[in-house]
Amino acid sequence: MFDRRDVDRAYRAPSIQSCSPPTTVKMQLTTLLPALLLSSLPGTQAWGFYGHKTVALLASRYLLPETSVFVQTYLYRGQSIMDAAVWADRYAHIPLGRYSKTWHYIDARDDPPRVCEVNYDRDCAVAGGGCIISALVNMTARIQDESLPWAQRAQALRFILHFVGDIHQPLHTEHKSLGGNRIKVLFHGHEANLHSIWDSKIIEAVRGRPTERGIINLTNELQDRIEGGEYATEAKENWKSCLNTTAAEECALVWASGANKWVCDYVLKDEDLEGKELGGEYAEGAVPIIEKSIAQAGYRLAGWLNMLVVGKDGLDGTESFGNGGWEVLEGAREGVEEVDREIEEMIEEGARRFEGLRVQG
Ligand SMILES: [Zn+2]
Repeated sequence: MFDRRDVDRAYRAPSIQSCSPPTTVKMQLTTLLPALLLSSLPGTQAWGFYGHKTVALLASRYLLPETSVFVQTYLYRGQSIMDAAVWADRYAHIPLGRYSKTWHYIDARDDPPRVCEVNYDRDCAVAGGGCIISALVNMTARIQDESLPWAQRAQALRFILHFVGDIHQPLHTEHKSLGGNRIKVLFHGHEANLHSIWDSKIIEAVRGRPTERGIINLTNELQDRIEGGEYATEAKENWKSCLNTTAAEECALVWASGANKWVCDYVLKDEDLEGKELGGEYAEGAVPIIEKSIAQAGYRLAGWLNMLVVGKDGLDGTESFGNGGWEVLEGAREGVEEVDREIEEMIEEGARRFEGLRVQG
């Protein structure tokens, strides 16, 4: 829950933007331009922009009005929810944020493709600084802690926006070959590693660069599938089954286990991927898994935030949702780096006190 007075003090109305109609973009893998495959994304432990930004934008479509206001209150100077969702990867790669690196994954010591299983006690402590599950537990507690200053609760929000995405990437729940980072493969003739093609290259191969328009289009498609398309039944019956923020560890484990199951069922089903060209059939089979994982993450993120702010997930189909005003961003300022710097300066002062924030296994 949050202090309403915070909102009244800090809320700035978003600029009103029009909502673009759903558009279907269907590109075949065979139409790729090799240049697209070379696009680089920040970080090596990151769902790419398609993952994180789509998760965040999709979630924003299911935020209850009060939740939407809360989120905007804790986004720095009108930063979009999508930019906020990728902040944690940048943060992990600067000296100040290095302690948070292990929070982006959990290294399941299982044995794919024979056994896939996330075991919190076995797998979380190994990283030596916490894992994605303990981080989600911790940030879920911190965002509700009204005794914390705005900057720290804002940081907790950014971590949650990001980690709910990462925990749905199958290779962020797997130890083998460093989550696939050490499995060298080919992707349309270019050298790559398995982790990176799951993070971004496969989805970008189908949809092109993760432009704002591309992210909005993907979000629209996933929303259609949730609201009457191929995900509808599963979303209602399964995706929202664990959104209990007072049982954050249990729910994060459910999410991680779902992602980890894909490791056996598809990602590492073929034990001998080393050196293979994965741009064809393998990538085609991966696309539906990636898209569904992104949809799942966005839907759950909304439910999680609604639970935190309003005490109900808001996903039973009877609610109307707030307009976050994040829909159309084309032409918007590209000030992410500047915002990042400002945030870093803001929290630098309290960095020493962040010791208490570090999760120990
Ligand atoms: Zn990450």
